[in-house]
Amino acid sequence: MSQKPNTFVTQPYLPDLKDFLPYLEQIWDNKTLTNAGPFHQQLEAALCDYLGVKYISLFSNGTLALVTALQSLRITGEVITTPYSFVATSHSLLWNGIKPVFVDIDPNTMNMNPACIEAAITPNTTAIMPVHCYGHPCDVDAIQKIADTYNLRVIYDAAHAFGVENENGSILNYGDLSVLSFHATKVFNTFEGGAIVCPDAKTKKRIDHLKNFGFVDEVTVIAPGINGKMSEINAAFGLLQLQHMPQVLSQRSEIDAFYRAHLSNIKGIRLGGTTGETQQNYSYFPILIGADYPLSRDALYEKLRAHQIFARRYFYPLISEFPMYRGLNSAHRDNLPQASLIASQVICLPIYPDLSMDVCVAIVDLIKGAS
Ligand SMILES: *Cc1c(COP(=O)(O)O)cnc(C)c1O
Repeated sequence: MSQKPNTFVTQPYLPDLKDFLPYLEQIWDNKTLTNAGPFHQQLEAALCDYLGVKYISLFSNGTLALVTALQSLRITGEVITTPYSFVATSHSLLWNGIKPVFVDIDPNTMNMNPACIEAAITPNTTAIMPVHCYGHPCDVDAIQKIADTYNLRVIYDAAHAFGVENENGSILNYGDLSVLSFHATKVFNTFEGGAIVCPDAKTKKRIDHLKNFGFVDEVTVIAPGINGKMSEINAAFGLLQLQHMPQVLSQRSEIDAFYRAHLSNIKGIRLGGTTGETQQNYSYFPILIGADYPLSRDALYEKLRAHQIFARRYFYPLISEFPMYRGLNSAHRDNLPQASLIASQVICLPIYPDLSMDVCVAIVDLIKGAS
């Protein structure tokens, strides 16, 4: 077999380097490197416009944005969340001294199951932190109804949901706050980066203070804030990257359509569905390996690896399996039967703009070859 280049689950989209040089020249000219400089302000405005949201506050990464989102609303006590996510979701709770309470997911949407939330509410519950897993919207109406009934805040980990819309527009407008990640592995990246989307100027102001040590002016500090500021280099890259989003999305959608067409009728393979979004972002392509597939999930994963196809088992293990969480009552597998099952079946296939159709064909053939 001919030597194939390594294929990872994702690869960042990089515009032409020569197109980035004028941005760097501007930074060198005006010597503003960070602290809400011109590119930072431009990117905030451009993202509000592109995403269709009111206010956005940029961060140096998504995890600090999650930690700060919780602080901005003064969340304490217990927060109901999903174990089927990247570990930063729950880590942001621990960093705030908050107890995560895990609830199970819906096996079709792989998002938090709203029917499980009510039973997990205690007198200490203050908020819900759902994840729009793989960029497919949660049942936002059901979640908001529960939040309203019990007077809880809703903070969405929307790290996967850049540009996702439903019939009312951006999915980021639901809940009290939504948090984005612009990490290199995400659909839209600034190398490292993140943001909080919020509905009013007052909340944005508080968030802006918190990401700058709590400074309000030269001599006034209102809270033990953090350094979560995005630098001018990252913001400039974001502005350039944003111009390429239509192309990024159309290339991703072609790969999504190819996989869907060729993998939807294989015995023992189930494709991760969409959940009614009107604009997808094609950020991940999860498949579930059932008992009637000839290979186990891990055997298929290893087979792909042997062909330099580095798919990932997102999300395995569950967050609730990690040592700092597994002692919680809610982390018990009996409480999370669907999440445990899905975590044992899932593989996310490579999907990114520069992924060649030849490699997609090879991936499909490898999966079919075992059937
Ligand atoms: C990527 C990701 C994060 C963390 O974002 P960073 O920018 O890497 O800190 C948080 N939650 C989810 C669901 C993610 O996928």
